[in-house]
Amino acid sequence: MQGKIIKGIGGFYYVYVEGKGLYECKAKGIFRNQKLKPMVGDNVEIDVLDEDKKLGNMVDILQRNNVLIRPAVANVDQAMILFAIASPAPNLNLLDRFLIIMNRQQVKTIICFNKIDLVDEEELARLREIYEHCGCQVEFISTYSGEGVDRVQSLLEGKTTVLAGPSGVGKSSTINVIKKEDYMETGAISEKIQRGKHTTRHSEIIHLWDNTYVMDTPGFSTLYIDEIEKDELGAYFTEFSEYEPFCKFAGCSHIHEPQCMVKQALEDGKISTIRYESYKQLYEELGNKRRW
Ligand code: GDP
Ligand code: ZN
Repeated sequence: MQGKIIKGIGGFYYVYVEGKGLYECKAKGIFRNQKLKPMVGDNVEIDVLDEDKKLGNMVDILQRNNVLIRPAVANVDQAMILFAIASPAPNLNLLDRFLIIMNRQQVKTIICFNKIDLVDEEELARLREIYEHCGCQVEFISTYSGEGVDRVQSLLEGKTTVLAGPSGVGKSSTINVIKKEDYMETGAISEKIQRGKHTTRHSEIIHLWDNTYVMDTPGFSTLYIDEIEKDELGAYFTEFSEYEPFCKFAGCSHIHEPQCMVKQALEDGKISTIRYESYKQLYEELGNKRRW
């Protein structure tokens, strides 16, 4: 049978098989000789040892489509970053950092703002404008009113999505409202996993409905971008790209140089101040990073 590793704890892997449920497995297969370490998100072949106790052996890891380092997960189709549009106010610098981290790993990010019941249309339009301008898909939801929830459900349909965001933005509430009515495995899964629970946070994938999974990542309040060079940073700000070729200096940092068309676009209101400030802060941060 084939299933997906949704969690790994202390040598055990929890493999979810559509229509059958969750199996506790050990890695016994030939792939151990191939020095492949199973990871969350892996699609695997299992042999069932005991159907009643739901025990199995993992005998093969199927070819991975991709592997993310941050967070560690295989076969990710997309990411969704959740922020509250208010209470707490969104930290857009943090949002920009997340976009870079995912972009660098070639994963498309959907930006989702929750708690839209707390603000007016104008605030929605402001954020939509900033982020659609840099090529992102932007969604607005309220887990209270249910607005936008069906759109998010259809965006997740049939995919494995990394769900990230700071704590307090409504990540748990969102997972609860996007689960479909007939979702019933929650109890079973958490019960089974509870037994092997450690104090450290492990990454975990949640099965929502048919072939639809989200990886619930722990809430974070900071993200460091350290894998890229400062000269590469501009490329992650896609809205700079139409101006950058016209900067006077090749390799313009868009910070100190004269006749910088990016700064000109900023002055003309064509580039968002918020995005530019993120860029500047990150550029300085990357300039200060330790060299090894
Ligand atoms: P998490 O820490 O990201 O998992 O956030 P929670 O789901 O625990 O929600 C944090 C707080 O925000 C709770 O008090 C929720 O009741 C509240 N909350 C969640 N969704 C909404 C929403 O759509 N509108 C408003 N006003 N509050 C929300
Ligand atoms: Zn420039």
